[in-house]
Amino acid sequence: MFDNSYARLPERFYVRVDPARVPAPALLAWNKELAQDLDLHGLSGPDHKLAQVFSGNEIPADAEPIALAYAGHQFGHFVPQLGDGRAVLLGEVIGGKGRRHDVQLKGSGQTPFSRNGDGKSSLGPVIREYLVSEAMHRLGVRTTRALAAVTTGETVYRDTALPGAVFTRVASSHVRIGTFEFFAARGDQDAVKTLADYAIARHYPLARDEPRPYRAFFRQVLERQAALIAHWMDVGFIHGVMNTDNTSIAGETIDYGPCAFMDEFQVDKVFSSIDREGRYAYGHQAAIAHWNLARLAECLLLLDDDQHAFEEELGRFPILFHDQYYTRMRRKLGLTTEEPDDESLIEEWLQYLQNEGLDYTLSFRRLAARICADEPSEFGAVERKWKRRIENQPQAAADIQARMDSVNPLFIPRNHQVEKAIEGAIAGDLSTFEELLKVLKQPFQEQLELARYAEPPLPEQRVTRTFCGT
Ligand code: AMP
Ligand code: MG
Repeated sequence: MFDNSYARLPERFYVRVDPARVPAPALLAWNKELAQDLDLHGLSGPDHKLAQVFSGNEIPADAEPIALAYAGHQFGHFVPQLGDGRAVLLGEVIGGKGRRHDVQLKGSGQTPFSRNGDGKSSLGPVIREYLVSEAMHRLGVRTTRALAAVTTGETVYRDTALPGAVFTRVASSHVRIGTFEFFAARGDQDAVKTLADYAIARHYPLARDEPRPYRAFFRQVLERQAALIAHWMDVGFIHGVMNTDNTSIAGETIDYGPCAFMDEFQVDKVFSSIDREGRYAYGHQAAIAHWNLARLAECLLLLDDDQHAFEEELGRFPILFHDQYYTRMRRKLGLTTEEPDDESLIEEWLQYLQNEGLDYTLSFRRLAARICADEPSEFGAVERKWKRRIENQPQAAADIQARMDSVNPLFIPRNHQVEKAIEGAIAGDLSTFEELLKVLKQPFQEQLELARYAEPPLPEQRVTRTFCGT
């Protein structure tokens, strides 16, 4: 069932390592739909069997567990060796549509890259990544997926003693900008070339036939990043640790540590407890992606030394991002035609939300509902301006409202609900986790019996800080 292309790369790309054995694995969640999509027939079975496999206790046939080497810029500072310190790649599967995916265990014990860490994960980060990555997928955002969550029967020690757990992540690959940096920093041009050729074959096969394949590869990675960050902004997502080791070459959202969705709109919003200077604030994410891409360009210069050409490609990023971002914002506001003042209308709307401390997600739904309402307006002057603007459009009001509702979610994984799901799971109660998972499967749909999950936090429910999963 597994076909492990990464394990066939040169030995300096990874270390072979077996997951640690755990005492009492129990299945917490199993993403059957994803397993079906990926054709994981060989892995299906009763819960206790799945728990053995997705805790790392049983290695499936053909799996070749490896920990991947990578480096990365963390908060702007280069760290020449990071690597999978608490994760192992079990292997790769090729799904029904011919697409190759990594299946990775996260929290499965120490590897040679663990440094001082225990290689384990506590239950909280596992629940968080499961919920948020699946929600992102249902919102249409490119992301790694959640295949399984298992508790281990172990206790792991962070600030307090917590139940241990293992998360199984599915990704288009785990090649990161930091993987390129690992080899480039060692002056290992052969490895950079091997990695680039591998990434091209796996993710951007058309680049191979371009006259300048590495430049074409870079251009496509850059385009995907621009689209991805615009999509994050669209749904109010703050990644929180946009280090180069957390930047996927495939253009997926990866590494759900201190990430969060905004409740009330604030352009410089930060949740992560370790992001003291707001480097990875909501409104700063495009600039950071651009900076991260410059680090990738530096690596690729080892293969194609036309610096000017790479600078030109990099220079397109702000323009591409701007286009993607405003295209999304226009759709969110129901603008189907293009007018010169649209961008300033969008800015005015967001400024209004920020000044009034309004909920980002729900305000777009409420605005859509205003379309057939009479004065007085709920959102002041900006609403009246918006109304005059959409009156110039050919579509009927109900049509515009339906279009808006189809791109503006009602349900997002709000922090206070995610925290509640985590607290519940630690106490052995999975009801919030399961209800949230259910409601987030259809984030654009009204769901009357679960409507409370759409609500922003009450003042006493507000979560202001999130923490890394370590
Ligand atoms: P992250 O902040 O999750 O992207 O992780 C950064 C680096 O720290 C990676 O090399 C991880 O493998 C490593 N790391 C994080 N948590 C642990 C842990 N509990 N044990 C060992 N290594 C860890
Ligand atoms: Mg990481």
